[in-house]
Amino acid sequence: MKVALVGIGKIAVDQHVPAITNSPDWELAATVSRHGSVDGVEAFTDLGELLETRPEIRVISLCLPPVPRFAYAMQALQAGRHVMLEKPPGATLAECHALEAAAKAAGLTLYATWHSREADMVPAAKAWLADKVLKKLTVTWKEDVRRWHPGQDWIWEPGGLGVFDPGINALSIVTEILPHDIHVTDAVLEVPENRQTPIAAQIGFHHPQGADVSATFDWRQDGDQIWEIEAITDGGTLRLSGGGAQMEIDGQPSGEAAALDGEYPRLYDRMSALVQKGGSDVDLRPMTLVADAYTLGRRDTVAAFHEDG
Ligand code: NAP
Repeated sequence: MKVALVGIGKIAVDQHVPAITNSPDWELAATVSRHGSVDGVEAFTDLGELLETRPEIRVISLCLPPVPRFAYAMQALQAGRHVMLEKPPGATLAECHALEAAAKAAGLTLYATWHSREADMVPAAKAWLADKVLKKLTVTWKEDVRRWHPGQDWIWEPGGLGVFDPGINALSIVTEILPHDIHVTDAVLEVPENRQTPIAAQIGFHHPQGADVSATFDWRQDGDQIWEIEAITDGGTLRLSGGGAQMEIDGQPSGEAAALDGEYPRLYDRMSALVQKGGSDVDLRPMTLVADAYTLGRRDTVAAFHEDG
């Protein structure tokens, strides 16, 4: 299948291009980007022009930041194309509902991807938790924003999500592996005095069986980067680390330590299957938790953030 990539920035170059190039199912047929391109691939700067001149490209994969994504996605759906969305699937929940309705009405596939759910140990963690009683779940997602988001001003602007940009990855795993849905009860959002979005957040959740569920996200992490979820249950303690790439049960490694390089190939496999069989996959639970944290969260103003230190 031919696919066009829109928004040739960090994630397109790091993950989408290699995943497409190495897949037997996909051909990178064109790009749309105002500044970026991929060697040997026809480059457009305007999505409308691509949709008009390349009708045989049936799938559009959007790697833009969340705020511009809705307009591009709707334009592609209205032109009869299947659409794959980077996470988060939009800037607001209402946008995502509108895209879902448009895709359904047109009989097109809309896939709201959550790459962290494709990390190696997520299915094993889900299976292990399925018959346990959860007592406590703690999410710790701490990374250095300067290292992972250099020069990305949009993450500090309204709709850019701030520390929830990585935090929503943790929530995509939590909503996948827990057998019961959770919801936000309280949150503290630490917002730098010169920015619009949080640099850190602490969130409390309601769990239907009364488990103590909480998350800490922080972008001011020096040294070791931490992407961990610990679940204490009646049958032992599970620890997912490395963003879902490694799992331990009661301190014992479970399975081979894996890298995260299978995530994007699995997303494209899933998109291929969805297009072939028809239908969409739009799970908005991670985004609902983030939206509710913004609604309920107390804002604490913290020291200004300057990228150059
Ligand atoms: P990025 O490099 O800052 O932006 C991607 C591209 O989008 C840019 O190169 C730009 O291309 C285009 N763009 C930016 N602002 C735009 C606007 N207002 N209108 C139209 N096009 C615009 O961002 P990224 O890191 O790749 O992230 C993109 C998405 O992927 C985000 O939702 C992010 O959460 C997700 N993601 C990122 C990572 C990561 O490691 N960075 C990992 C997983 C998922 P042109 O200027 O050439 O048009």
